[in-house]
Parts: sequence; C-alpha cells; structure tokens
Amino acid sequence: MFKSELVAAAGERLKAARTVSIVSHARPDGDAVGSALGLGLALEAAGKTVTVALADGVPVAFRHLAGAARVVSQGDPHADCRILVDCGDIDRGGKAWLPEWPVDINIDHHKTNTRFAAVNIVVPEAVATAAMLAELLPLWGFEITPQAAEALLTGMLTDTIGFRTSNVTPHTLRLAASLVERGANLSELYFKALVERSFESLRYWGRGLSRVQMEGGLVWTSLTLEDRKVSGYSGNDDADLVGYLPTVRGAAVGVIFVEQPDGTVKVSWRARPGWDVSTLAVRFGGGGHAPAAGATIEGALQEVQEAVLAATRELLIHAQHSIEEGEH
Ligand code: 5GP
Ligand code: MN
Repeated sequence: MFKSELVAAAGERLKAARTVSIVSHARPDGDAVGSALGLGLALEAAGKTVTVALADGVPVAFRHLAGAARVVSQGDPHADCRILVDCGDIDRGGKAWLPEWPVDINIDHHKTNTRFAAVNIVVPEAVATAAMLAELLPLWGFEITPQAAEALLTGMLTDTIGFRTSNVTPHTLRLAASLVERGANLSELYFKALVERSFESLRYWGRGLSRVQMEGGLVWTSLTLEDRKVSGYSGNDDADLVGYLPTVRGAAVGVIFVEQPDGTVKVSWRARPGWDVSTLAVRFGGGGHAPAAGATIEGALQEVQEAVLAATRELLIHAQHSIEEGEH
C-alpha cells in the first residue's frame, strides 16, 4: 500500500525533528481532527514538541479527544518538521497554513491530492488519513498510545460513516481492531462522533429537509443563513445532513447547498457506490473522493444551485449511458 522509499524518507524527517507542526484542513471533519491529533499525540509520546493547528478549531463532536483543548489556529512554519494531514491541496489548511510556507510531509488519501510537499504519501484507496497513520506510525517505530488510538479510530469512524462505505475491507476492520486493542473504546467513540447531536442541529435539518427535492436519481436541498438564525445552529456547515440525501430509495447522488456569510456557497456531494462526484467538485474548484466531494463556489445561492444541479444532472445522464453501454 505504501511506497517504502517514501515511508523511509518521511520517517527520517520525523525522527530528526525536535519540533513538529501538524496542520489539517479548515472546517475540520473527524478525519482531519483525528489524524492530526493521533499523529501529534504519538509524536509527543516519543518526546517531540508538537503543535496541532486547525483554522476553525475543534468541533464539539471531537472535543473529548486528548489534545483537543491545545489545538491552535495557526501552524509553525519554522518547526523542524511541517506536516499537512488529510489535505488534498495546500490551500486546504485555510488560515492555519499559508500556501507559501513549505511543507515537509503530506499524508493524505484524496485522489485529487496535488503533491505539494517534499515527501508525499498519498493513498487514495485508504479509507481515512487516520487509517494510513495507524499503519505508518508503527512502521516509523512510534508507539500508538491509547489516546492516539482514540483519535485515529475517530478519523476512521467518521470517514467510513461507521464502517458503512463501500471501500471498507477486512484490512480496514483489522486496523480498527488494532486501535481498539490499544485502548480505544469503539462504542463510546462511535456515539460521540456519529450519533450524538445538538438540538439546534436537528431543527436546522428540519429546515433543510422541508425543502428537499428529488429528480431522477438526484436528491438535493439547501441551507440558508436564515435557517441558521431561526434554528439557532451556530456552524456554517450542513450539520452532516448531506449524508442522508442519497439514503432515499432510488437516489444515486445527493447535493446540499449551504449559503455562507461571505457571498459564497459551500456545496457538498454524496454519491452511492458506482458514481464519482469528485470530478464535478474539481470542476467547481473543490475536490474530494468518488463518493464524497465538496467545493466552495462564489455566487448567490440560486445561481450556484442552478449551475451545480445542471452539471450534476449531466454527470448522471452520461454515467448512466456509459454504464448501460458497458452492460450489453
Ligand atoms: P464535505 O463536502 O463534507 O465538505 O467534503 C467531502 C470531501 O470533499 C472531503 O474529503 C473533503 O476533504 C473534500 N472537500 C470538500 N471541500 C473541498 C474543497 O473545497 N477543496 C478540496 N480539495 N476538497 C474538498
Ligand atoms: Mn479524510
């Protein structure tokens, strides 16, 4: 799975470093938080001075993880070793990492990764960056402490939606089991990361769900600034509603449009197995994986929605044609 010369090159840089700066992406999900903290905690246990930076801090759902309270908002470009985890491109760090700052190690599983570091360990088949680290840390000779195991298992849980994505293999489950053996509590971490939610987010979902639309295999809705005000939801994200759109019987792809205060719209796609929405996201300046991708697009909600829905309909029609052509 890993190229041994890259693993060795990254390992050398890590072993030689006294200070390490770890950054993951803005609007962090569980894999961003879990892979950054898991790596940081393991390196700290090996005596390194580590800072973990996330431009938007740690979401409530992950604040129980060790080290969450010490996360800062900007990385250190002068650290001996500078690492970006779970970032497909160098802009993903947001304000936590300026694009002109050099990166030593890029550890990621996005197929759209732009290989921006001195050492790039990019494995698109990996279910999560945290899963890559669960393998890499022992290869480098660093111990995965119980607290690091909790962070890494959280990253695996969220990116696989509780081991429900089609890329989960026996190997994924063995890796997760190894983290449980190291002391991570699966049921507690599962509940915290994927099940528990705020009352406000439920009300926010209600606003989005009341406007949900379906056309062929396409299911979509939007969430506005007004929806957030009315429901009392404080984030600028979709509160994970998009994941429920392709659960509709007959759906292939779900899309959600989240109006942002700066005149942009955050778009998220989720697709059932067999569809690839990452190319669509790239076309709109974003990125991601075949089943889950996103982009932030400038423009008013209505105009972005029309452009994105047109492109997504086209993908569904063309992909459908190629599937049918391949079948006869
Ligand atoms: P979400 O839609 O939940 O924000 O993200 C889904 C997937 O797409 C994640 O893997 C995320 O990292 C990626 N993604 C979301 N927005 C962007 C973006 O603007 N640029 C890139 N490169 N990837 C994105
Ligand atoms: Mn990830």
